[in-house]
Amino acid sequence: MRFAIFSDVHANLEALEAVLADARERNCTHFVCLGDVVGYNANPHECVERVRELDCPIVKGNHDEQATLVESSSDFNPVAERAIQWTRDHLAEEDRQWLQDLPLQKQVRDFTIVHATLDTPSQWGYVFNNLDAAASFAYQYTGVCFFGHTHVPMVFIRDDGDIKRERMEYVRIKPNTKYFINTGSVGQPRDGNWRAGYCIYDIEKNLIQQLRIKYDLETAQKKIIKAGLPRLLAERLAIGR
Ligand code: ZN
Repeated sequence: MRFAIFSDVHANLEALEAVLADARERNCTHFVCLGDVVGYNANPHECVERVRELDCPIVKGNHDEQATLVESSSDFNPVAERAIQWTRDHLAEEDRQWLQDLPLQKQVRDFTIVHATLDTPSQWGYVFNNLDAAASFAYQYTGVCFFGHTHVPMVFIRDDGDIKRERMEYVRIKPNTKYFINTGSVGQPRDGNWRAGYCIYDIEKNLIQQLRIKYDLETAQKKIIKAGLPRLLAERLAIGR
């Protein structure tokens, strides 16, 4: 059984389609989404539709939450705020309802999924260092948990109480060890690499692979500008920031 696990699509349809096609080519039979389907880029409705059609396990992200509110909370920066207002105007009522009903965390077979953190999933904190990861590990009851939110692929490994942080292409899952794994972002990577990121988890082989996939960046950028969204959102896609 091969799972394609992806996060932070952020309404980037070109990146989403490239990832789904790549995953199918690599014989993935199951999909899992870690939230933030919308926000920032130009195809929120289409991306909600594509992900809904997968009928796969999914959790809610902070942009999904904001898109369903009438007014934003104060912690969004001005660019994200303009984008989320635009997003609200471009979602169908049933998209909104679907986003609103998403759970904050979920167990899928023998692993867990969450958008931000396991200790306080509704607070949308960021896990960048071992201290942040330790707080999540305290609430992780499965060997493996996948998360998103930072848009930076990263692997935290807890072994005998010690936590290590790594960037690795392949993660071999060992017993009695916990793994908190960020799949990176499909639609707005922020690690200096513009390619769409996602993971494949091969359950039988106990192996997780982190992948980066080329997509039609130019079309995604043109749509952002044509939509009247902040130009910065198109520019940042090209540099992966
Ligand atoms: Zn995000």
